[in-house]
Amino acid sequence: MKSGAQRRAEILHRRGVRRTAERSDAVKDQALRAAKERAALLKNQVVVNVDKLRPTNSFGTPDFVARGFYADRPFNCKTCASPQVWTATQQRWWYEIAQGDVWTVAVLCRPCRRRERERRNDAREVHLAGLAKKASKR
Ligand SMILES: [Zn+2]
Repeated sequence: MKSGAQRRAEILHRRGVRRTAERSDAVKDQALRAAKERAALLKNQVVVNVDKLRPTNSFGTPDFVARGFYADRPFNCKTCASPQVWTATQQRWWYEIAQGDVWTVAVLCRPCRRRERERRNDAREVHLAGLAKKASKR
Protein backbone atom coordinates (compact mmCIF):
# COMPACT_ATOMS: atom_id res chain seq x y z
CA MET A 1 0.00 0.00 0.00
CA LYS A 2 1.33 3.41 -0.95
CA SER A 3 1.36 6.29 1.49
CA GLY A 4 -0.58 9.46 0.83
CA ALA A 5 2.65 11.33 0.25
CA GLN A 6 3.79 8.77 -2.34
CA ARG A 7 0.44 8.92 -4.11
CA ARG A 8 0.52 12.71 -4.08
CA ALA A 9 4.01 12.73 -5.61
CA GLU A 10 2.86 10.40 -8.41
CA ILE A 11 -0.19 12.54 -9.20
CA LEU A 12 1.89 15.71 -9.31
CA HIS A 13 4.43 14.02 -11.57
CA ARG A 14 1.71 12.86 -14.02
CA ARG A 15 0.15 16.33 -14.04
CA GLY A 16 3.54 17.88 -14.79
CA VAL A 17 4.07 15.53 -17.76
CA ARG A 18 0.60 16.35 -19.14
CA ARG A 19 1.09 20.13 -18.76
CA THR A 20 4.44 20.01 -20.56
CA ALA A 21 2.81 18.12 -23.46
CA GLU A 22 0.03 20.74 -23.71
CA ARG A 23 2.53 23.56 -23.67
CA SER A 24 4.67 22.02 -26.43
CA ASP A 25 1.49 21.66 -28.58
CA ALA A 26 0.80 25.36 -28.19
CA VAL A 27 4.39 26.20 -29.11
CA LYS A 28 4.12 23.97 -32.20
CA ASP A 29 0.85 25.68 -33.24
CA GLN A 30 2.47 29.06 -32.89
CA ALA A 31 5.55 28.02 -34.88
CA LEU A 32 3.33 26.58 -37.61
CA ARG A 33 1.32 29.78 -37.84
CA ALA A 34 4.50 31.88 -37.99
CA ALA A 35 5.88 29.68 -40.79
CA LYS A 36 2.62 29.98 -42.74
CA GLU A 37 2.73 33.75 -42.29
CA ARG A 38 6.30 34.03 -43.60
CA ALA A 39 5.51 31.84 -46.62
CA ALA A 40 2.42 33.95 -47.38
CA LEU A 41 4.38 37.21 -47.12
CA LEU A 42 6.95 35.87 -49.58
CA LYS A 43 4.17 35.19 -52.07
CA ASN A 44 2.61 38.63 -51.57
CA GLN A 45 -0.49 37.20 -49.93
CA VAL A 46 -2.87 38.97 -47.57
CA VAL A 47 -2.28 37.23 -44.23
CA VAL A 48 -5.16 36.55 -41.81
CA ASN A 49 -4.67 38.05 -38.34
CA VAL A 50 -6.80 35.66 -36.25
CA ASP A 51 -6.66 37.92 -33.17
CA LYS A 52 -8.46 40.72 -35.01
CA LEU A 53 -11.41 38.60 -36.18
CA ARG A 54 -14.79 38.97 -34.54
CA PRO A 55 -15.35 36.14 -32.03
CA THR A 56 -17.69 33.38 -33.19
CA ASN A 57 -19.59 30.68 -31.28
CA SER A 58 -19.17 28.21 -34.12
CA PHE A 59 -17.01 25.11 -33.68
CA GLY A 60 -16.06 25.22 -37.36
CA THR A 61 -13.09 27.01 -38.94
CA PRO A 62 -13.64 29.33 -41.92
CA ASP A 63 -11.55 28.29 -44.94
CA PHE A 64 -9.51 31.51 -44.93
CA VAL A 65 -8.50 30.94 -41.29
CA ALA A 66 -7.39 27.37 -42.04
CA ARG A 67 -5.50 28.60 -45.11
CA GLY A 68 -3.83 31.47 -43.22
CA PHE A 69 -4.34 34.07 -45.95
CA TYR A 70 -7.19 35.67 -47.91
CA ALA A 71 -7.72 34.67 -51.51
CA ASP A 72 -9.70 36.57 -54.19
CA ARG A 73 -13.18 35.12 -54.34
CA PRO A 74 -15.19 35.25 -57.58
CA PHE A 75 -18.98 35.38 -57.29
CA ASN A 76 -22.06 36.49 -59.21
CA CYS A 77 -24.11 39.38 -57.82
CA LYS A 78 -27.28 38.05 -56.17
CA THR A 79 -29.41 40.79 -57.76
CA CYS A 80 -28.01 41.57 -61.22
CA ALA A 81 -25.99 38.34 -61.70
CA SER A 82 -22.93 40.22 -62.97
CA PRO A 83 -19.62 38.40 -62.35
CA GLN A 84 -17.61 40.00 -59.52
CA VAL A 85 -14.42 39.39 -57.55
CA TRP A 86 -14.29 39.92 -53.80
CA THR A 87 -10.58 40.70 -53.41
CA ALA A 88 -8.31 39.49 -50.61
CA THR A 89 -7.80 43.09 -49.40
CA GLN A 90 -11.54 43.76 -49.32
CA GLN A 91 -12.02 40.56 -47.30
CA ARG A 92 -9.40 41.60 -44.77
CA TRP A 93 -11.16 44.95 -44.37
CA TRP A 94 -14.53 43.26 -43.88
CA TYR A 95 -13.40 40.65 -41.35
CA GLU A 96 -10.65 42.48 -39.42
CA ILE A 97 -11.61 46.16 -39.54
CA ALA A 98 -15.38 46.26 -40.09
CA GLN A 99 -15.66 43.22 -37.76
CA GLY A 100 -17.93 41.36 -40.18
CA ASP A 101 -19.04 37.89 -39.12
CA VAL A 102 -16.45 35.32 -40.25
CA TRP A 103 -19.19 33.21 -41.89
CA THR A 104 -20.47 36.02 -44.14
CA VAL A 105 -19.31 36.61 -47.73
CA ALA A 106 -19.97 39.28 -50.37
CA VAL A 107 -23.12 38.59 -52.43
CA LEU A 108 -23.88 41.95 -54.09
CA CYS A 109 -21.87 44.06 -56.55
CA ARG A 110 -20.99 47.62 -55.57
CA PRO A 111 -23.89 49.43 -57.38
CA CYS A 112 -26.43 46.88 -56.10
CA ARG A 113 -25.08 47.22 -52.56
CA ARG A 114 -25.43 51.03 -52.72
CA ARG A 115 -28.97 50.70 -54.11
CA GLU A 116 -29.90 48.22 -51.37
CA ARG A 117 -28.51 50.55 -48.68
CA GLU A 118 -30.55 53.49 -50.04
CA ARG A 119 -33.69 51.37 -50.26
CA ARG A 120 -33.21 50.24 -46.65
CA ASN A 121 -32.60 53.81 -45.41
CA ASP A 122 -35.70 55.09 -47.24
CA ALA A 123 -37.80 52.28 -45.79
CA ARG A 124 -36.53 53.08 -42.29
CA GLU A 125 -37.42 56.77 -42.71
CA VAL A 126 -40.96 55.89 -43.83
CA HIS A 127 -41.28 53.51 -40.88
CA LEU A 128 -40.05 56.07 -38.33
CA ALA A 129 -42.24 58.82 -39.82
CA GLY A 130 -45.22 56.50 -39.48
CA LEU A 131 -44.40 55.81 -35.84
CA ALA A 132 -44.05 59.53 -35.13
CA LYS A 133 -47.40 60.25 -36.80
CA LYS A 134 -49.08 57.52 -34.80
CA ALA A 135 -47.59 58.80 -31.54
CA SER A 136 -48.70 62.40 -32.22
CA LYS A 137 -52.32 61.29 -32.72
CA ARG A 138 -52.63 60.06 -29.16
ZN1 LIG B 1 -25.38 43.69 -58.91
